[in-house]
Amino acid sequence: MTKHPLKMTKVALENLFQKPATVPYPAVRKPVYAATRGRIAIEEAKCILCLICDKKCPTGAIKVDRPGKTWAIDRLLCIQCGYCVEVCPKKCLGMENLYSPPVSAKAMDVVNVPFTPPPPKPKPPPASATPAATPAPEAGKE
Ligand code: SF4
Ligand code: SF4
Repeated sequence: MTKHPLKMTKVALENLFQKPATVPYPAVRKPVYAATRGRIAIEEAKCILCLICDKKCPTGAIKVDRPGKTWAIDRLLCIQCGYCVEVCPKKCLGMENLYSPPVSAKAMDVVNVPFTPPPPKPKPPPASATPAATPAPEAGKE
């Protein structure tokens, strides 16, 4: 026998007359606030395709294609940690306080970037291909 036999009945009755904590989404949406972590947005005009966000993202959600000049994100992989926003050297990534709309299939959100990366630097020739140093003339043989 419990010490408070009516405690459960009291909680049940209270819940009967309280509004539910949930909302009937999508007919009603919960409010978003200034600090709500919604989704990552990019100002593509400032991006220099440096790949830092691609390398640092802990879930591999961002893919940067330098030759193809695109920045892409898999929003289902993103955990809204904000690390890409911190490390971007051009400060072109930001956290919007809007949520992405629901999707029924996995897809990358691809953004075209106007920046044209410089061509890669030519590799130095291998050591064996460099001409051998001319030997110094022997003393008295001139
Ligand atoms: S917020 Fe975090 S998980 Fe999402 S893309 Fe940026 S680094 Fe990756
Ligand atoms: S978004 Fe920022 S970190 Fe990512 S490739 Fe563009 S400039 Fe680099």
